[in-house]
Amino acid sequence: DQGLIDADPEIAEAITAELRRQRQTLGMIASENFAPRAVLEAQGSVLTNKYAEGYPGQRYYGGCEHVDTIERLAIERARRLFGAAYANVQPHSGSQANAAVMAALLDPGDTILGLDLAHGGHLTHGMRINYSGRLYRAVGYQVDAGSFLVDMDEVERLAHEHRPKMIVAGWSAYPRVLDFARFRRIADAVGAYLLVDMAHFAGLVAAGLHPDPVPHAQVVTLTTHKTLGGPRGGAILSADTELARRLDSAVFPGQQGGPLGHVMAAKAVAFRIAAGDEFRDQQRRALLGARIVAGRLGAADAHDAGVRVVSGGTDVHLVLVDLRTAKLDGLQAERLLQGIGITVNRNAVPFDPRPPMVTSGLRIGTPGLATRGFDEADFVEVADIIATALTTAEAGDGLRSRVDRLADRHPLHTGWTR
Ligand code: PLP
Repeated sequence: DQGLIDADPEIAEAITAELRRQRQTLGMIASENFAPRAVLEAQGSVLTNKYAEGYPGQRYYGGCEHVDTIERLAIERARRLFGAAYANVQPHSGSQANAAVMAALLDPGDTILGLDLAHGGHLTHGMRINYSGRLYRAVGYQVDAGSFLVDMDEVERLAHEHRPKMIVAGWSAYPRVLDFARFRRIADAVGAYLLVDMAHFAGLVAAGLHPDPVPHAQVVTLTTHKTLGGPRGGAILSADTELARRLDSAVFPGQQGGPLGHVMAAKAVAFRIAAGDEFRDQQRRALLGARIVAGRLGAADAHDAGVRVVSGGTDVHLVLVDLRTAKLDGLQAERLLQGIGITVNRNAVPFDPRPPMVTSGLRIGTPGLATRGFDEADFVEVADIIATALTTAEAGDGLRSRVDRLADRHPLHTGWTR
């Protein structure tokens, strides 16, 4: 039985190169994180060999006793971590979790009301060529042009005008907390379900550092690989068990065949870790880091260079930078930072005049660096590096070596080779 390096040197080399890239750069993509070694081990385990269609105790295959143990632990830990009566840990991704919830509660042609992609929403909240926009009649709400906050009066108006069967609250690029209670009141007034998609902020919720959507929404979905820092995957939660059967059967057999036992095991590990004090401190530093980056990019020199922070700050683990009046567009800024070893993604800002492949914004996230151990002083330094690059629009003044020093100070996946 050959190891990877012998069986497939090309893939082995690419993985090693990726590990080197992650170590030597500062990953600041807001939807990314670094999974702990225990998660990597569970995910790279022999569980990948096992079929386990069905749910614990009700499988369509023999030999599922250990997968049952694992899935039960993952469900129990998810429920406890988020105070939910119901959890499904099988969705292969956040997109599939949302697809299952919509399939469980909606009929094709029903109306959904979600945050516009161009204003920070996700593809699965009703984008035209995504399943959510093709199967359902999608209506989008937006942020207010002055405050850049979700315009709740508009949400209310659109809900009464379009009578959606589901309202989706959640985002991929929005730096503030949402008013879940008001979303629920609006949903109730028009007879809609409220789905909160906390893919991005699940880790903050787990740590008690973000308003908890579980008591407000009929259903909550999440990804386990963003702030939560676990394996790539999705999950579904509900405060009560009323919808349990419909949700379970929408995931399997509705959307998926066999669950990924190795990923469910890694999710269970991540939920356990997320209940601990170290995780809470990590989330606290992610929030602190984001506030530091927002503060630095809101300083006078950045302002003079046309750099703005969307909504003037952040409540969460990301900062949305508005470059509409800056020298660089989103694509140029992403490349410039890439060149000095900081990985971010360009991102449309609300009311962006540039096309989606260029954009006038950057989304900068701090969860990965918080996981690497960044503290206040480190975030001050990285914020200054970014601000200097964006305001001068060049990679000068030894910025790359300042990045190298930070990366060296916080080694990543030590002892790990793949
Ligand atoms: N929902 C939101 C709000 C997201 O930001 C994302 C991922 O970016 C998803 C769902 C989808 O997750 P996945 O990429 O696992 O399908």
